[in-house]
Order: sequence, then C-alpha cells, then structure tokens
Amino acid sequence: MGLQAALRLLFPPQCLLCETLVTTDFGLCGPCWRATPFVAGLVCDLCGCPLPGEDPGHPVHCDECLTSARPWDHGRAAMLYRDNARKLVLALKHGDRLDLARPAAGWILGVARPLLSPGVLVVPVPLHWTRLLGRRYNQSALLSAELARQAGLDHCPDALVRGRNTHSQEGRSREGRFDNMTGAILPHPKRGTLLRGRRVLIVDDVMTSGATLAAATEACHGAGATHVTVAVLARVAKDA
Ligand SMILES: [Zn+2]
Ligand SMILES: [Zn+2]
Repeated sequence: MGLQAALRLLFPPQCLLCETLVTTDFGLCGPCWRATPFVAGLVCDLCGCPLPGEDPGHPVHCDECLTSARPWDHGRAAMLYRDNARKLVLALKHGDRLDLARPAAGWILGVARPLLSPGVLVVPVPLHWTRLLGRRYNQSALLSAELARQAGLDHCPDALVRGRNTHSQEGRSREGRFDNMTGAILPHPKRGTLLRGRRVLIVDDVMTSGATLAAATEACHGAGATHVTVAVLARVAKDA
C-alpha cells in the first residue's frame, strides 16, 4: 500500500463544513453544497451579484453599482454572503481553517477566470499590521496566494499596504464606509512599483459596500496599474 492510500485510510476526506465523509478532498457533501449560495447565471459585471434575465451579450450592472464608486473594470463573486458562505468566510477569518483557502480560491478562480489573461498580477486587500498581530494571518492573502498558484499567475502579497488603521467598517453607513476608506490603502513603498503597467487582480474574502476594494483599486491606479479586476469569495447583497 502506498503512502497516499495509507493516509486515506487514516484520514478519509471529510466535508469542509460538517465532516461527513466525502469522495474527494477539499469538497463539500451534497447537503452542504446545496446550502451554499454559489453564484451562477447572469451577474453584475462590477460586483458579481446575480441579476434576473438572460445574458444580453453586453456587460450589465446592478442598481448598487450604478450609484456607487466602482473604479475597477470588472468584478466577480463566487457566492452570496449567507448560509454556508457566511460560515466559510467566518471560519477562514477567525477559525484558523487555513485548509479552506485552497477550495475557496478555486471557487473564486472559477468565476474570475474569464476575466484573467497571462501577465495578470494577483494581490490581496491588505490588513493593517495591528490587526495582523491579533489575527496572525491575512485571509485575503491566503486566498490570493492560492488563486495565483492555481491560475499560474504572479502574486505579490504586499504590493498594497494600509496607510492607517481604519478600524472596523461594521456599523457604518455606506457613505461612511467610503469616507473611512478614502486614501487608507497605498502602494507599498518598494513592492508597489510591481503594479506599474500591469493588469491587476485584487482578491478579498467579502465585498460589502465595495469601499475597501475601491480604495485598493485607487492605490493600484496610483501606482500605474493599467486595468483592475476584483474578485471575492462572497458578496453581501442587499436582498440576500
Ligand atoms: Zn457537509
Ligand atoms: Zn453590482
């Protein structure tokens, strides 16, 4: 018996959420899969939320994206932030479930792949270092590193940095969130030069108002990026 087969007997693959035995590694069991709101069909080209109707053959945008600052070119989300998507995001962020980064990055790549081309530089939304101390890792950087690896693209985990601690966005209005984030993200004094002349993919775990992604996009543009796409694991949709 080979080592792989022996390990499988000792550690048979389990569902990422409920530990039911499953047939493949890094998967969800049937009931958990069905309770995970993966995005499919026609989506907003800026935030990735689902839209009703058939694909009209040109990019379409949701109401929120029509009235909010969206400085990036395209955006996608793998899931809506509710039910099991919420569980996955919280487990990745606070639960030390580093094993979730690989499948989650695969799901993000699944929706972002049509927007990617060779030479794209993948970067995460940065955490302020004071929050990094409390949390020990940046879940967005775990996702972006895995996504870049799976897509065969360049990755720079610190091309962007937090210029100041913005504290939590929770409890702020949509306008307040944009005000709080203005100028809060900057290109890294050295590694930021990697962004010059590049097409960039910014990865984050969750998009709520989009204020953080807007600040990250502005920083990329400031550093000379030519084109910015954003991709998140889960989109908080108003009607979700
Ligand atoms: Zn399950
Ligand atoms: Zn949208």
